[in-house]
Amino acid sequence: MKYVIIGNGIASIGAIEGIRRVDPEGTIMVIGAEDAPAYGRPLISYLLAGKVDPDRLALRPQEFYDSNKVELKLGTVVTAVDTGSKTLTTTQGESIEYEHLLIATGGTPFTPEISGAEGEDVYNFTNIDQARKLIERAKDMKRAVVIGGGLIGLKAGEALFDRGVDVSIVEQSGRILSLAFDEYAAKLAGERLDEVGLQVQTGVTVKEIQHGKDGRVVGVYLTDGAFLPTEAVVIAIGVVPNFDLARDAGLDVDLGIVVDDHMRTSASDVYAAGDVAQALDLLAGDNRILPVWPNAYNQGFCAGKNMAGQDVAYSGGLSMNSISFYGLPTISVGTVNPPEDDSGYEIVTTLDERKRSYRKLVFHHQRLVGYVLVGDIDKAGMYTAFVKFRLEVGDEDRDRLKAGDPDVLMWPDEFFRKTWNPDSEAPSA
Ligand SMILES: Cc1cc2nc3c(=O)[nH]c(=O)nc-3n(C[C@H](O)[C@H](O)[C@H](O)COP(=O)(O)OP(=O)(O)OC[C@H]3O[C@@H](n4cnc5c(N)ncnc54)[C@H](O)[C@@H]3O)c2cc1C
Repeated sequence: MKYVIIGNGIASIGAIEGIRRVDPEGTIMVIGAEDAPAYGRPLISYLLAGKVDPDRLALRPQEFYDSNKVELKLGTVVTAVDTGSKTLTTTQGESIEYEHLLIATGGTPFTPEISGAEGEDVYNFTNIDQARKLIERAKDMKRAVVIGGGLIGLKAGEALFDRGVDVSIVEQSGRILSLAFDEYAAKLAGERLDEVGLQVQTGVTVKEIQHGKDGRVVGVYLTDGAFLPTEAVVIAIGVVPNFDLARDAGLDVDLGIVVDDHMRTSASDVYAAGDVAQALDLLAGDNRILPVWPNAYNQGFCAGKNMAGQDVAYSGGLSMNSISFYGLPTISVGTVNPPEDDSGYEIVTTLDERKRSYRKLVFHHQRLVGYVLVGDIDKAGMYTAFVKFRLEVGDEDRDRLKAGDPDVLMWPDEFFRKTWNPDSEAPSA
């Protein structure tokens, strides 16, 4: 096989599209552990909530794989990679040769040490299989506890709540979405959840999950000593890069698989992309794990082009979160909680509690490096452009940007053309 891709997520699709931009003919094989067509992972909360039909989840139709001449091997786990002989082994006992390999194995759910976390009625919420199990469980369940008030926990909590389940979300830190939000954004979002009846407790977590004699969950003990009766627990603390395969193959790993600016790993002809890769953070200027959808696609796209022989550098990723809390839209991009002791940062906030609207802009010297919007998110695209393209803003434009002046929000177009390298990413994820 000329190109082999391990993992069938969005990074894999990016890679197929990247390869085919350069090489229309070379054979491509995608090996995926899940026995399902590549699906929109963020959509599993809509599936659980009953808001999206299961057959609307696929990212690309079968025709995409046919026309791109991609051989799909689903329900197949790659168990080992031998970078010397350039072969990999699967659970089916096959040995498959590759010329260029992409490891796009995503993340695995992080499970903290909680007594009782193993056993019935305890779920994570990272794949379609778990979503399906929760849909079944929700049919005869009244109460659920979600551990984790980050993106995945909030989405799981809302989806179960929409199914009529009484949900409590517990978050160890002092606020929900602690990395993406500040205290004001978290407060507005928390109030909205409270209004609809979804309980969120912060500063506390689960220390023990109690199972009855029949093995079923009966409740959880919190770190403050309280007991919450519940019939199910969803552990949604986040994902960690799924790099065991790469590490066992002798590739350099740190927090994720280490890659260079072309998404190449330490082994020749082996690339990595997506949640498993530790790739360039546009703002920090070093390599980090930024496990969000657009980054995974763009990394895959860039890796694909390089695998096929083009010479393209990855332009870097951004942390970004967008979530709507029952009609209250929010978005957070880039650096939103800068170090307090760095005087190079300037933070400008506008809060209107009555309108439930909040805007936070974070400048670092002459650049906008991050922002949070709650309520009115109309200008999000333009603010993102300022962050992403690292546009320098002089004093006058900075003042207009702070004021949300539409004139200044119009002018980056010419800068996009100068700064955006369309070879390194495709805006179609
Ligand atoms: C509930 C939820 C909501 C989310 N919401 C958002 C959102 O709103 N916005 C956003 O930007 N991001 C969101 N994310 C994150 C986003 O889904 C991920 O960043 C993205 O899916 C990563 O894509 P990937 O291709 O790197 O990995 P994945 O989508 O994780 O795909 C990796 C695939 O590789 C397979 N695999 C692993 N090991 C092997 C092996 N050895 N052999 C074969 N196959 C293997 C896995 O089974 C998996 O199917 C959300 C995630 C979750 C779970």
